[in-house]
Amino acid sequence: MDCIFCRIVEKSQPADIVYEDDALIAFKDIRPKSDIHVLLLPKAHIPTVNDLDEHHVTLMGRLFLTAKKLAAQWSLVEPGYRLRVNVGRGGGQIIDHLHMHLLSGQRKR
Ligand code: AMP
Ligand code: ZN
Repeated sequence: MDCIFCRIVEKSQPADIVYEDDALIAFKDIRPKSDIHVLLLPKAHIPTVNDLDEHHVTLMGRLFLTAKKLAAQWSLVEPGYRLRVNVGRGGGQIIDHLHMHLLSGQRKR
C-alpha cells in the first residue's frame, strides 16, 4: 500500500505540519481552496468514512474536538469555518486516507 498521508505521518514525505498528537495529525493543504485550508486526520490508515465502525467512535470524537480546538486557537470561531469530509470518488475524495478539511476565510477558485 502506498498512501501519501501515511508517508506524511511517518515523516518520509514533507508537509507543513501544524498539529500532531498520538492519534491525529494536521497539515496545510498543498493546494489551498481558502485562506485557511488544513487537513486533519487520524494517523491510522482508515480509507474512508465507509470503513468506520464502533471502534472508531472515540477517535472520531477526538477528530471533531481537535478541529474545534484548532479553530479556536486560530481565532476562527468568528467569522466561522467549514469542516468537510469527502467520501468516495463521487463525493470528491481523491486520497483514500480519511481526512477532514478545515477551511476558513476567502474561498479561492
Ligand atoms: P480529498 O479530495 O478530500 O481527498 O482531499 C485531498 C486533499 O489533499 C486535496 O485538497 C489536496 O490538495 C490535498 N493534498 C494532496 N497531496 C497533498 C500533500 N502532499 N500535502 C498536503 N495536501 C495534499
Ligand atoms: Zn494512509
